[in-house]
Amino acid sequence: MSPERVPITVHRAKEIWFTRREGDAIKLVTLMDAALGVDSKGKITAIGRASEFKSPAYLEKIIDHGDSILIPGFVDAHVHSPQLSVIGAGGMPLLDWLTKYVFQAEAQFKHPNVALAGAQRLTRELKQNGVTTAAVFSSVHAVAAEALFQEFDSAGLRLISGKTSMDVGAPAGVLQPVQADITEQEILIERWHKKSSRLHYAITPRFALSCSRELMLALGELRERHPTCYVQTHISENLEEVAAVKGVWKTCSDYLAVYEDHGLVGDKTLLAHGIHLTDSELKRMAKAKATLVHCPTSNTFLGSGLIDLKRVGEFGVHVCLASDIGAGTHFSPWQTMLECYKIQALQGSRLSAHELLYRTTLAGAEALGMSAVCGSLEVGKEADFVVVNPARKPLLAERLAVTESASDRLFACITLGDDRIIEHTYVAGNLVYCQPSPD
Ligand SMILES: [Zn+2]
Repeated sequence: MSPERVPITVHRAKEIWFTRREGDAIKLVTLMDAALGVDSKGKITAIGRASEFKSPAYLEKIIDHGDSILIPGFVDAHVHSPQLSVIGAGGMPLLDWLTKYVFQAEAQFKHPNVALAGAQRLTRELKQNGVTTAAVFSSVHAVAAEALFQEFDSAGLRLISGKTSMDVGAPAGVLQPVQADITEQEILIERWHKKSSRLHYAITPRFALSCSRELMLALGELRERHPTCYVQTHISENLEEVAAVKGVWKTCSDYLAVYEDHGLVGDKTLLAHGIHLTDSELKRMAKAKATLVHCPTSNTFLGSGLIDLKRVGEFGVHVCLASDIGAGTHFSPWQTMLECYKIQALQGSRLSAHELLYRTTLAGAEALGMSAVCGSLEVGKEADFVVVNPARKPLLAERLAVTESASDRLFACITLGDDRIIEHTYVAGNLVYCQPSPD
C-alpha cells in the first residue's frame, strides 16, 4: 500500500531560529534563506535552506514571509486567567497584593460571562504574543476552568489547566469546601483531560497557605486516581510567605515537603517561583524531576527576590520561563527573557540569547513532557510557530541590519521585541493570529 499523500505547504522566510538539545548542551540552530514544510495534518515535514528545498511532490502552496524570521511558538508555563484586570496593580508585596487586588478579581469569575470574557481575553493576548502552549491557573470556580478549556479548544492553543483549589486563607468568594472541589474536578477531568492532544488537566492547589491538610490530602488522592494529570502550584516566592508556611505546616520539614507529603511532586509538577528554596529542596526537586517555573517580570514587580539560576542549575533542577500575569508585567516572552537576563546579570551571570530562547520554548515543552511534539522546529513535530517581522519596529530592523551573527540578532529581538514584531502565529500549521496591516 502506498503511503498516504498529504498536501504540503512551504513557508519561506529570511531566517529560522530554534534551539536543540545535544546531551546537556543547548544549541541555537539558525538557517538563512530558510523554508519549513508543513503537511495538512499540521506536522513539520521538512526544514532547510529554501534554495536546497526540493519541491515536495504534493506541494499545495508556498507562503513567502519575506524578510521575517520563523521561530517556535512560545510556551508560557505559568499564567493566571482571572488576573488580567490587576496587571500593574502596584505598591505592595505578594500576600498584601493577593488580598487587596487578586482575590476580589478572581471572585468575579464565578459568573459564566466574566469567565468566558476572561478566557477570550487570555487567548487573544497569547496568540498576539506568539504563545502557542500555556499552563494556566483558573479561579476556584469550575465554570471558569470550563470556559478556559472551551476557549482554548476553539482557539486551537495547547492548554494545561484546572480549577484552582482553595479552602482556607482567603475571602469566602474564592474558597470552596473540599468535597465540592474534588467532585467538580472529577467532572472536569472526565470532560477535558486529553479530550484532544492539546488539552490537559492540571491539579492546581493555589499554594500552601490556601489549602487545608484535608484538601491537600484529597488532591494527592485525586492525583493518584489520575496520574496522567499535571500538578501546578506556587512555592517559596516571598520570604514572608515562606515564614507563614512554616508556621501553618508545622509537621512538614519545609515548603516543598507540604506538597511532597501529599503526593503532589513528580515529573509532571510545575512549581512556580522557587526563589527562596533551600539546598535540600532543590536536591529533592531535581530527584523528582519537577520543574521550577521562573517568572522574572513578576518577581521584580512584586519585589519577591532575585532567583539565582546558576545555583538552581547546579542542583540539576529543570527551569523554564513564564509570564505569571497578573503579577507579571508582560505577556511578551521577549520581555520575560529580557527580565530573566537582567536578574542573572545583577548576580554576575550573563545568559546567552539561545539559553533565553530555550527557556521560553523547548524547556517549557520538556517540562510538560512534550518535547517530541513542540518547543522547536524539527521534522515530525507539530507546526506551532511564529513569524517575527522586525520591520514592524523600525529601530529593531535598523539594529538587526548592523548585526553580524544570528545570536546577536536574537539578543536584539529579546531586548527590543514585544507583540509588535509578532506578524503571525501558527498552531499545527493553521494561522491563528495575523497582525493587522499598519494602514
Ligand atoms: Zn502565579
